[in-house]
Amino acid sequence: METILFVTHTEADGRVPRAALEALAAARELALARKAELVVGVFGAVTANASAQVAGASAARWLAITSPDLSEARYASDAAAVEALARAAAATLVVAPATSRLSRVVPGVAQRLGGRVDTHATSLAEKDGAPVITRWFYRQRIEAQLSREKRPWLILLEGGCHAPFVAEGAAPVFAEVPLPLGPSDRRTRVLGLRAPRSDAQTIRPDARLLFVAGAGWTKKQADGKTHADRAGELILAFLQASKASLGSSKSLVDQSGEGQAVLPFLSHLNQVGQTGATPRHPKGLATCCHGEEPHVVGWRFILERRAVNLDPGCGWARGKADVLYVADAFEVMEKVNALLAAK
Ligand SMILES: Cc1cc2nc3c(=O)[nH]c(=O)nc-3n(C[C@H](O)[C@H](O)[C@H](O)COP(=O)(O)OP(=O)(O)OC[C@H]3O[C@@H](n4cnc5c(N)ncnc54)[C@H](O)[C@@H]3O)c2cc1C
Repeated sequence: METILFVTHTEADGRVPRAALEALAAARELALARKAELVVGVFGAVTANASAQVAGASAARWLAITSPDLSEARYASDAAAVEALARAAAATLVVAPATSRLSRVVPGVAQRLGGRVDTHATSLAEKDGAPVITRWFYRQRIEAQLSREKRPWLILLEGGCHAPFVAEGAAPVFAEVPLPLGPSDRRTRVLGLRAPRSDAQTIRPDARLLFVAGAGWTKKQADGKTHADRAGELILAFLQASKASLGSSKSLVDQSGEGQAVLPFLSHLNQVGQTGATPRHPKGLATCCHGEEPHVVGWRFILERRAVNLDPGCGWARGKADVLYVADAFEVMEKVNALLAAK
C-alpha cells in the first residue's frame, strides 16, 4: 500500500504557511483516491500551533520534529528533518509545498533516500491506478502529466494551485521524531539577516494583489511632459501601503536599455508575460499598460483582473479584464494612496 507523507516546516509562530495547507488538501485527496495511508509530518522550532491547522486531515499518523535547530532555514538541518520524517513514515510518496525553504532541500533528500523528485507540480491525481502530477513546460505553453514507478517519489507542489485544507474537529497530538544532527550539520549559523529595503523588494509571490506598471507611466501626459519621478513615488507609496507585488510590462523594463525615462526600482525580474513571469495572485491591477496578448498571457493564473487605462479601446477592454477603469492612472493612484493613508 502507498504511504503518502505530507511534510512541511512551520513559521516562526509555529503555524504552517498557507501553501502547506494547499499541499495538505491535495495530498489528502490523493490518499483518499488511492486508498493510501496519509501521514502528516511537520518540523520547526515550534510545532504545537500547527496541530489545530491540520485537525481532521484523517491521517493515520501525526509526526513532528521540534528543535531549536530548526528555527532558521538551514540546508543541513532542514534536509535531515525531512529525511527523518520520510524514514519514520516509511513514505512511498512525499508531498511538500514549494516554499523556498522546502524547494531548497527536497531534491537533496530524494537523493539521500534513493528516490526521485519532481518540482513545480501544479496538481496531484489518481489515473489508471497510478498517481500522476501535472506541470508546465516551455514557459507555460505545454502542460504535461507525469507518473513514476520509482519510490519514494518526492513532489513539490506549487502554491496557489489547490484550495487550502480547512481544519475541523480536535487537534491531533504529534509523535516526536528525533532529529539526527552531527556537529558538522550545525556548522552553518545564521548571524543576522540582511534584507533589501521593503521598497526595494518589490516581488512578493505571496501577496494578495499583483500591481502591474506599464510603459504609460513614463510617456508624455496631457500637459505634453513626462512625469517618471511622480510615477515612481505613486507606485512605491502604493506598494508600501498595500504590500502588493510589483509586475511590469516588457516595454517598461526594456526602456532602461534605450535611454528613456525609467522607474529605477524595476528590472526584468518584474516582467510579466510570454517572455516574463506567470505569477499567481488572487487579484491583479494593471495601470498604464495596454493589455496586449504577449503581456496578458502572463496573467493566466490571476483570478480577478482590473485595469486603469486612458484608452477605452485598449486590450483589457476586449475581454481580458473583469473591470476596466477608463481613467488617468496618476489621478486614480493619487486618490487610492490617500484612501490607504487615511486607513
Ligand atoms: C515575442 C514577443 C514577446 C513579448 N513578451 C512580452 C512579455 O513577456 N511581457 C510584456 O509585457 N510584453 C511582451 N511583449 C510586448 C507586448 O506585445 C507589448 O508591446 C507590451 O506589453 C506593451 O507594454 P505597455 O502596455 O506597457 O506599453 P504601451 O503599449 O506603450 O501602452 C501604454 C499604455 O499606457 C496607457 N496610458 C498612458 N498614460 C496613461 C495614464 N496617465 N493613465 C492610464 N493609462 C495611461 C496608454 O493608453 C497605453 O495603453 C512581447 C512581444 C513579442 C513580440
